Amino acid sequence: MDTLELIMGITILLTSANLGVTFVWPAAVKYRVKKEYKYALQAISKYDGYLISQEKFLDNAALCKVEVENRSDLKILFPYIEKIANYVGEENLKLLYTNLKSTTLEKSKLRHGTTGVWRPTEKKILYREVSSLGHELLHVASSFYDEVRKEVQCGFSQAAEDECAEIGIGLNEGYTEYLTFQIFGEDKNSRYENLVNIAKLLELFFDDPKEMEKFYFGHDLPGFIHYMERFIPYDRMISIILSLDKIDIYEHGYEKGVTLEMVNVEMELYRYFIESNPSSEKLEKFESIIKQKEVTAKALKREKKRMVKESLQNDDEYLDDFGYYENDLNYGGIAK
Ligand SMILES: [Zn+2]
Repeated sequence: MDTLELIMGITILLTSANLGVTFVWPAAVKYRVKKEYKYALQAISKYDGYLISQEKFLDNAALCKVEVENRSDLKILFPYIEKIANYVGEENLKLLYTNLKSTTLEKSKLRHGTTGVWRPTEKKILYREVSSLGHELLHVASSFYDEVRKEVQCGFSQAAEDECAEIGIGLNEGYTEYLTFQIFGEDKNSRYENLVNIAKLLELFFDDPKEMEKFYFGHDLPGFIHYMERFIPYDRMISIILSLDKIDIYEHGYEKGVTLEMVNVEMELYRYFIESNPSSEKLEKFESIIKQKEVTAKALKREKKRMVKESLQNDDEYLDDFGYYENDLNYGGIAK
């Protein structure tokens, strides 16, 4: 997005806010989006190109397990807490217990297919279905709220309360859901299916998946991006993260938007992944994730053809440079 588009995007978001509608920008077609998604959409335009905070907030809390175990009002969470505790190391559990110490739980009639919500600034879990509690608890376990700066770092996302801005929501939801599957079992009806697949692709850039987990529980988006810079330039990484934010919003019924963003992101990740020289086992895994969806499977086939063609062209140039190609022809050698 260039600057002009960015300014126009913000203006449209601001002027339409009072009318109860918001438009996704910059799309050739404007998608009409319901008011409740306004907050997330504002974030995408406003924070295009940079992060809200450049480093993770420091937290020095001790592991306060006992205080949580004494809270009988949180009893329904205990089996979920136990499963998370068995899955992650103790160093990744501190925030879960610190946050839960002052967390309240409320059964609520959430609308628009939402089954659970975690509000980090109020320290409140709202839930409609008990099955959503595992996912929400992972948000609790990875959230840090800085009361002075009025900023939240939650897993791979950042939010500035005063400015109604967010970044990394799509990446965070995809990875949270992926962890939820691993800890509590897969949910075939997950609304984050596409984002989960992209989170899986990103994980394959790590030799040890626990390294990615550490960035997540450490609410360290800058650290994650910095790691990924070994393979993907910073600007492209930010752009991919913003695409995931868009996918998260498009998931609410704008299938075309999802498809376009998803294909672009997966193909871009594929190109960087190939450049990283992965083992054949890893490459196979990477491709099998892309092939799960028909549309991305087709795009992969096309992309591979394009890459072969490109490398053949490069070989020709190489041969031409040294005159070998010409010589071969003259002596009746290799014919093309
Ligand atoms: Zn979530």
